[in-house]
Amino acid sequence: MAVDLTPDPSVAQLAQRTAQFVRQVVVPVEERERGVARSEEVRVELQRAAREAGVFAPHVSAEFGGHGLDMRGRAAVFEEAGYSLLGPLALNIAAPDEGNMHMLEAIATEEQKERYLRPLAAGEVRSCFAMTEPAPGAGSDPAALTTRAERVPGGWRIDGRKWFITGAEGAGFAICMARTAGEPGDAGGATMFLVDADNPGMKTVRHIETLDESLYGGHIELLFDGCVVPDEAVLGEVDQGFRYAQVRLGPARMTHCMRWLGIARRAQDIAVARAAERRLFGSRLGDLGMVQQMIADNEIDIAAARGLITQACWELDQGGHASQSVSIAKTFCAEAVWRVVDRALQICGSLGVSGDILLSRFLREVRPFRIYDGPSETHRWSIARRVLREHDKTAGR
Ligand SMILES: Cc1cc2nc3c(=O)[nH]c(=O)nc-3n(C[C@H](O)[C@H](O)[C@H](O)COP(=O)(O)OP(=O)(O)OC[C@H]3O[C@@H](n4cnc5c(N)ncnc54)[C@H](O)[C@@H]3O)c2cc1C
Repeated sequence: MAVDLTPDPSVAQLAQRTAQFVRQVVVPVEERERGVARSEEVRVELQRAAREAGVFAPHVSAEFGGHGLDMRGRAAVFEEAGYSLLGPLALNIAAPDEGNMHMLEAIATEEQKERYLRPLAAGEVRSCFAMTEPAPGAGSDPAALTTRAERVPGGWRIDGRKWFITGAEGAGFAICMARTAGEPGDAGGATMFLVDADNPGMKTVRHIETLDESLYGGHIELLFDGCVVPDEAVLGEVDQGFRYAQVRLGPARMTHCMRWLGIARRAQDIAVARAAERRLFGSRLGDLGMVQQMIADNEIDIAAARGLITQACWELDQGGHASQSVSIAKTFCAEAVWRVVDRALQICGSLGVSGDILLSRFLREVRPFRIYDGPSETHRWSIARRVLREHDKTAGR
């Protein structure tokens, strides 16, 4: 049976406009800034241009100023935005804001939506998602959560330490996951809290130096030290934080894949252009078999990654968690994108590792994706466990 993967004409048009906008407007800024937006001026400049081009905030509903794309629609548009490291920032679909908008739209109260989602969707503020903790706290295993929230009159008091909180520098608010029941190691008992940046109990400890630099607002260590928030700061229901995290994590894993797939395509385009022009050993680089193999393997990785993203997005659009498909797509994409950028760099030789083109920057940026949103090993472990559970079910155990 033939499978028609053609997106809706309005989505195809938006994807095409996004591609044009990224190539004409964003890539020159990216090259000027060496792939990293380091100031509010750059962010504001890019977002103003995206608004003018009619491609801003494609994921949020029309009520909050967006285009209301479903997951398959996002796959088409986000990949085009991801063609530049600064494309997602321009469209206001960069991590972690995009995932936070998705979750706020799904579970926030009307008051919380007006206070947090509306300015976030408009690009007036940024946000962060504070889950991971230094050892022995939450990381690959969220149940290890140690940050605690205790009831106080009229609200909650949060105490704990978080690290690797992307975008926290300059964010208007944080969504903080804290334990409201049970002990570290227990599967449930977490709650999400909306914490305003000016809360004196939420303190920046340090800006963590990392391999990657392009995610705006850096990766920050935060201390929650007697951080008191009112009852209205609870996002969703008390003790249901891990359940709500699934609302955010599945789609956010896929949107990360979409954006990085855009960078993989860009790397491949750079390598192909080089292979078509560079001459050595009496022929074009691209006419040498081993280079052709690298070009072909890149095409295979890109096509396979896109196929797996489409499958997982289709399942998410049907309303399911798509846990198995998301784990498969995330693991494959994170590794495939790395392979593609690495081969592209190899094809370009010393030029590839130089700062004259952006390939070495891309390589640094994609490497951590095999760790965040669940390390490859955690996903493989979950994939295998689901398969074995299914086996046990059919075997009647
Ligand atoms: C660039 C970057 C940005 C991030 N941004 C955020 C953010 O905004 N907010 C946030 O809350 N967190 C963020 N994180 C944290 C990220 O989610 C965690 O790094 C991730 O969940 C892994 O946790 P950990 O680093 O504590 O590694 P650990 O949990 O200590 O795991 C270490 C290693 O153990 C291995 N491993 C894990 N599970 C298994 C298994 N089942 N079987 C065998 N081996 C296994 C893997 O190789 C893994 O890399 C970010 C991380 C990075 C690198």
